[in-house]
Amino acid sequence: MSEAKAVEQFDLSVRTPAGPVTATVEISTGFVPVTQIVPLLRRLGEQAQALEQQRTTASGLRISCAKGCAACCRMLVPVSAPEAFALRDMVATLPETRREAIQLALANATASLERAGLLTQLRQVAENDRPITDDMMEPINRAYYALKLPCPYLENESCSIYEDRPAACRELLVTSPADWCQDMVNKPVQAIPVPLRISTILGLLWSELTGSPPRLIPLPLALDWAERHAAENRTKWKAKDLLDKALDTIWRFLSRHPAS
Ligand code: SF4
Repeated sequence: MSEAKAVEQFDLSVRTPAGPVTATVEISTGFVPVTQIVPLLRRLGEQAQALEQQRTTASGLRISCAKGCAACCRMLVPVSAPEAFALRDMVATLPETRREAIQLALANATASLERAGLLTQLRQVAENDRPITDDMMEPINRAYYALKLPCPYLENESCSIYEDRPAACRELLVTSPADWCQDMVNKPVQAIPVPLRISTILGLLWSELTGSPPRLIPLPLALDWAERHAAENRTKWKAKDLLDKALDTIWRFLSRHPAS
């Protein structure tokens, strides 16, 4: 007979700039790795983004993003450490042929980045021992976007890890014409605000849990980073404490970024 898992139920409510988001969560009474908090935070982020989307359409604007358009999958996607570990765990469950295809796409992307002279900079971003500012990232983001390098997880212009895609991929929605996203440098692309920037929040949470600097890892390097840092992901936290710290991080984020 399998042993029933002990869980506690909590009703959460977070007031975001787009409106309140709520969730009922069941969490273990035991200890869990940081990856356990990732789906909940992504859910809250998606709810907040849906509210923002409603506000946008109510104001008369239309979201231009549609299935089959993957222009934004040529941008540099920042991934928090908990998401990198969750991605590694997910990829480990895939059939061998899928894993090999992903490894090949990642190797090709890494080779392209090396040829373009960007690999060293991206590795420094992933392994930084001091916070990296938006101003520091700006030229790197521009150089990456100029390569028009498809995301290693993009297959036939469709995301091959859709359910598990990083939070940052869920947050970019635009109201400007879709074809402007092919030339984001020269066209005034209009993105809707992001009420809860979940990758940043998870990055701050990981920083607080581990005492390391806030870190966002470039997506093409995320699996490699998670592999090399696998030992850090063996630490477990009491699930309720992890939830409390995550909520506290959200509130602190919201107090500093009323809307971004
Ligand atoms: S993970 Fe998926 S949605 Fe995100 S950039 Fe890659 S292909 Fe696009």
